[in-house]
Amino acid sequence: MNKIRVGILGATGTVGQRFCQLLEDHPQFEIVALAASERSAGKLYSEACPWKLQTPMPERVKEIVVSPISPDLDCDLVFSSLPGSIAREAEEAFARAGYPVISNSSCYRMEEDVPLIIPEINHEHLDLIEVQQHKRGFDRGFIVTNPNCAVVSFAPPLAALNEAFGVESAVITTLQAVSGAGYPGVPSLDILDNVLPHIPGEEPKAETEAQKILGKLVDGAIEKAEFTVSVQCFRVAVTDGHTAAVRVNLTENAPLEEVIRVISEYKGLDLHSSPDRFMEVSEEPAHPQPKLDRENGDGMTITVGRIFPDNILDYRFVSLSHNTLRGAAGAAVLNAELLVEKKYL
Ligand code: NAP
Repeated sequence: MNKIRVGILGATGTVGQRFCQLLEDHPQFEIVALAASERSAGKLYSEACPWKLQTPMPERVKEIVVSPISPDLDCDLVFSSLPGSIAREAEEAFARAGYPVISNSSCYRMEEDVPLIIPEINHEHLDLIEVQQHKRGFDRGFIVTNPNCAVVSFAPPLAALNEAFGVESAVITTLQAVSGAGYPGVPSLDILDNVLPHIPGEEPKAETEAQKILGKLVDGAIEKAEFTVSVQCFRVAVTDGHTAAVRVNLTENAPLEEVIRVISEYKGLDLHSSPDRFMEVSEEPAHPQPKLDRENGDGMTITVGRIFPDNILDYRFVSLSHNTLRGAAGAAVLNAELLVEKKYL
């Protein structure tokens, strides 16, 4: 099979670098175009990019000259990791010009004709692509999004519980890594020896996206799941890995063993970037921890632990996901693999 030729918008950033890393030897996709701001355009990627990953910059991307963000890239689809401020206009322009746009940014996630996908949970929402193309007058192009990186840490266990017992409400505290703020991100004097109780724009996303992801597609529209979520988001001095402390009320009574079982047995997929276990329940008392568990399943497994009955709501647990892999570039690559399997690409 000829590989699909991809471009990356925001290629020099934290998420853009992960795309370059993940796509280095990908069997279905090859990187042919990299685009970033005017600061980087015209330079070789190796000169423009402040590479921060532990694996070396792939040889293939080093010599690519960075393009400006303009919908005339010579490629078949684009992955977007642009800042929200410019993503709205740029992603629409690419979709209108005929490119499938697989986006990490927040600006289209909650639009009713845009799929917000975690492949293991709601791949049938991809049917919205047809609705979107019709409504927006896109010809071959479309926009598909993946969720906010904090939402990815708690939406999967909530999906398992909602399917089995119904979720009434959840109260969640997130402890989010500094890489979630991009590079250079949060100043070191703000975050060292500190916990920041405000991540601009984060709580509204964290309180609404899971209900769309867990919603049902009925007659070309998503009926959102009806539970209420209350979330407080904190930035903590962790490099990668977002942790969520969750308390949840269920509609039906459920014994502890069943709660553990439905989370750990929730079905995964068999795409190239799928982990062996979509969710892994750890019974170790001091897990999950970002430092020890974020690389589980090559950063694509959600690790859940400390599942116990709660004194106020029904159950409590802690869940963790890698924010730039399962929460960003890995999620988008998985979405692209799903789009290939479902013949949208
Ligand atoms: P980042 O490290 O700040 O990188 C931003 C990228 O966008 C860089 O390539 C930058 O290019 C480019 N850019 C900035 N301003 C631009 C402009 N005016 N015109 C064109 N390109 C511009 O940010 P990030 O963490 O990778 O995040 C990117 C997006 O992904 C954001 O929407 C973010 O919310 C989302 N996201 C991030 C994470 C995460 O964990 N970091 C997780 C999920 C979603 P230059 O290098 O040339 O400036």
